[in-house]
Amino acid sequence: MADSDVYEVYAVKYGTLAARTRRDNFIAADDHERAMPIDYYVWAIVNPQRTIIVDTGFEHEEGKRRGREILRLPREGLSMLGIEAAKVRDVIVTHLHYDHAGTLDDFPLARFHVQELELAYTTGPYMCSDAFRHAYTADHVCTLVRRLFEGRVAFHSGDEEVAPGVTVHHIGGHTMGIQSVRVRTKRGWVVLASDACHFYENMERAMPFPIVYHVGDMVMGWSKLRQLADTPEHIVPGHDPLVMQQYPAPKRDLEGVVVRLDVDAKR
Ligand SMILES: [Zn+2]
Ligand SMILES: [Zn+2]
Repeated sequence: MADSDVYEVYAVKYGTLAARTRRDNFIAADDHERAMPIDYYVWAIVNPQRTIIVDTGFEHEEGKRRGREILRLPREGLSMLGIEAAKVRDVIVTHLHYDHAGTLDDFPLARFHVQELELAYTTGPYMCSDAFRHAYTADHVCTLVRRLFEGRVAFHSGDEEVAPGVTVHHIGGHTMGIQSVRVRTKRGWVVLASDACHFYENMERAMPFPIVYHVGDMVMGWSKLRQLADTPEHIVPGHDPLVMQQYPAPKRDLEGVVVRLDVDAKR
């Protein structure tokens, strides 16, 4: 394995919502009234040859509309890590929900990697129903369509390589076209699940997240994540505050903002 195929991987926290209960995070019968905060992340995959960003968060305006506070814009969090969003060439967008596909304009040179099914889903008949539409923002989808007409969208269908050591994998379930990202690191294959698994508990207790296009695909998707990762400890859920506690910050002044995922968790 060449060094150019091995990466460092970072989770950058850009937002949080403390006022959230377990009813918002699990479909199944559960202690629904108990508090269960959620964190919002973007991810960076880095080695000396390339930098690939996974997801782009949302803007202050969008946060206001949905009652969520942004701690820092994704580009500001990335810059704390020494990454200039304006220079990034490749951005993987796991799916187009508002908290994953905003701020696209902060990446003016990037090509956006999406699953073909996700753009079909968000521009087709399912969006006639608020049940599927409510977690999307029309402006984000329209911005991506504009980038498509500038030749800056790369479509993927199923499992494909984005760069040596970085692959995307269609999972489905949460949305029709959600994809997860697998990265080769010095501790083995790490899988950035994004919203294919929001919290460790979704997978560990087999309790689906309530925002869902197809529950069966969501549950089967967890098996696929397990197949892709070296061990269950190599799967990184998309919104779990535990990620910030279990992995080390790369530097002291980044504590609480950035953690390193290519080293073992403290779990
Ligand atoms: Zn989502
Ligand atoms: Zn999300």
